[in-house]
This record gives sequence, structure tokens and C-alpha cells, in this order.
Amino acid sequence: MQQELKNKTEAHGNDSLRLRAVLFDMDGVLYNSMPSHAKAWHRAMAEFGYDLPEEEVYMHEGRTGSSTINLVSQRQYGVDETEERIEEIYKVKSDYFNEYPPAEPMPGALSLLRQLKARGLKILIVTGSGQHSLLDRLNDHFPGIFSRELMVTAFDVKHGKPDPEPYLMGLQKGGLRAEECVVVENAPLGVRAAKAAGIFTIAVNTGPLPDSALTDEGADLLFPSMQALSDAWAGLAATWMR
Ligand code: MG
Repeated sequence: MQQELKNKTEAHGNDSLRLRAVLFDMDGVLYNSMPSHAKAWHRAMAEFGYDLPEEEVYMHEGRTGSSTINLVSQRQYGVDETEERIEEIYKVKSDYFNEYPPAEPMPGALSLLRQLKARGLKILIVTGSGQHSLLDRLNDHFPGIFSRELMVTAFDVKHGKPDPEPYLMGLQKGGLRAEECVVVENAPLGVRAAKAAGIFTIAVNTGPLPDSALTDEGADLLFPSMQALSDAWAGLAATWMR
């Protein structure tokens, strides 16, 4: 792992990485929420005559709701949906999502966050999610880790992922340069956004997509789970925090 990491960091011109912060995506990284999102999207879209298979939802993860709806609408009918219908579909999707039990924290997430905290690293969240209760929930499951000033949510940005804007805003909020950070992402479009922001990106494949969906977008390292990343963290830190 150490040699592989060294090769990777050098190949990506990031051998000067001096870690000060880790930027986390939320859905599918800190919470196991994607299965419910996928089911809710599939059901809501079917109700409006659209075919969006559950697995495909994982490919679009990170997009705004309207972007996902229009992508499917364009594919099936060659036109965008109206704003009213987009709102309607998205509300049905949200209602279905809220019917499911609240998502559990991802196994391994808390142990990783505690290691980062103990090393004095800044910890940021960069999510397309826009729930107002987000910080309360995060504080319940991951006490003492997150702060509002170090969060980028749907309320902060104009463009969702795969645009680099959310991650660039994370750098700005943290007073950070790209080469002082790594991103942890589970979604192909999230990896694309982070790489477009110039940040070393660790992908965790917590869903049903093939690893290539993440590596094709330029993920620098890939782990099969948050637990595996947490277990490997001491070795990574030895390279990045020497
Ligand atoms: Mg995600």
C-alpha cells in the first residue's frame, strides 16, 4: 500500500501533499443512505412515467434533483420537464425517501473521523444534500466532529456535482489549498467534481457500481468500504503527515 500510494501521489503530481484537511461527501460515505435514495427515485419516477432503474441512480448521485429528472426526460421524450413537474416529482421522491427508516452511519466512518480529529486535521462536509436538520443529525452520530462553518450543502452552491464548485467552496471555507486536502467520495460524479477542483481523491465503493465507475473518473485511491479506509488510515497518514 505504501509503495502504491507513493506511486499514485507522484503520478498525480501530488507528492508535495501535506495534509491539513479531509473533505467528506455525506450520502454513501458517512451514512448508508443510498439504497433508500435509489428506491425512492425509482418509485417516484415510475409514478410519472419515467424509467430510472435503482442501480442507475448511483451513477447520477451528486446531481441536483432537476438535473437527474431532466436527464431521464430528455432520454425518453427529448425535452426537459417543466419546473412545476420537477418540483412535484422531487417532492414525491423526498416523501418516499422519508418513509424509509433513517439511514445508519456507515460502519468505519466514526473510527476514521476520530483518527483524523486526533491528528488535528480539519474535517469538512461537502454534500449536495439540503436537509435543515443535517448538522443536528451529524452531531448525534459523530459528536464533536463537525461545525456549520466547515460544511458546504445544497444551500451554498449554484451548481451541484459534477461541477467543481462545491469542493472549491469547501477549500475556501476551510482556508485551504487543494494540495493540503484529500476528498473521500463514493459517487462517480463526486469523484469528477473533486478531481476538477484539483484535490487528491479517495473513492470508497460502498454501492453496487463496478470499481471502474470510480477509477474511470480519476479516483487516486480506491477502498471497498469506509471500514477498510479507516483501517488503512495510519499508513496513509504516515505518508501525508511526515
Ligand atoms: Mg455520496
